[in-house]
Amino acid sequence: MLSFLLLCFMLNSNNLITQNENVIIDCNYTFEEAISNLDFPDVTKYDLKLVTVLYYSFDDKIHQGQLVIHKNLVKDVIKIFSLIKEKKFKISKVVPIVFYNWSDEKSMLGNNTSAFNYRFIAGTKRLSNHATGRAIDINPFLNPQVFKDRTYPSTAKYNPKKEGTITADLFLVKEFKKIGWAWGGEWESSKDYQHFEKLK
Ligand SMILES: [Zn+2]
Repeated sequence: MLSFLLLCFMLNSNNLITQNENVIIDCNYTFEEAISNLDFPDVTKYDLKLVTVLYYSFDDKIHQGQLVIHKNLVKDVIKIFSLIKEKKFKISKVVPIVFYNWSDEKSMLGNNTSAFNYRFIAGTKRLSNHATGRAIDINPFLNPQVFKDRTYPSTAKYNPKKEGTITADLFLVKEFKKIGWAWGGEWESSKDYQHFEKLK
């Protein structure tokens, strides 16, 4: 009886926590909606999953967003995002790029975190690792791709002192690397601070 009462208490308190969180819904797509209006191979589609994530945004409130990601990376992403929430590392928003009509640039200008997009690497004819859902860009406007002579997007500036910025000593980079992801901030040719990928 005592354990039953205890269980009721625990269930109730869990419910209370959920209600008090006042989650702000940044998006609520179905899988089909999240991959709509885009021409890409069926074989890629079968490998994708829509994942719901929670995070603190810059208004200090908990938000709910969604990521379209390769099915083999779902576990990793859930793990990383639960840590992001626990550490209260600010994520602006996480909305599938269909919202930006599949424009990587518009998504970056919106500082939007995303994964799948069937697109080429900017300025090339090579498919990006985002095209298989095996790469994530986090807070891209705060963490642009920095070349020797320019930044992409061009209006963004990388300032490691700003909240939401990704640096080598951040828990996020360490945790991602621990589970086999690479960070674009360590690339030689350009520093893609927003970018994490796991190809196998
Ligand atoms: Zn990327």
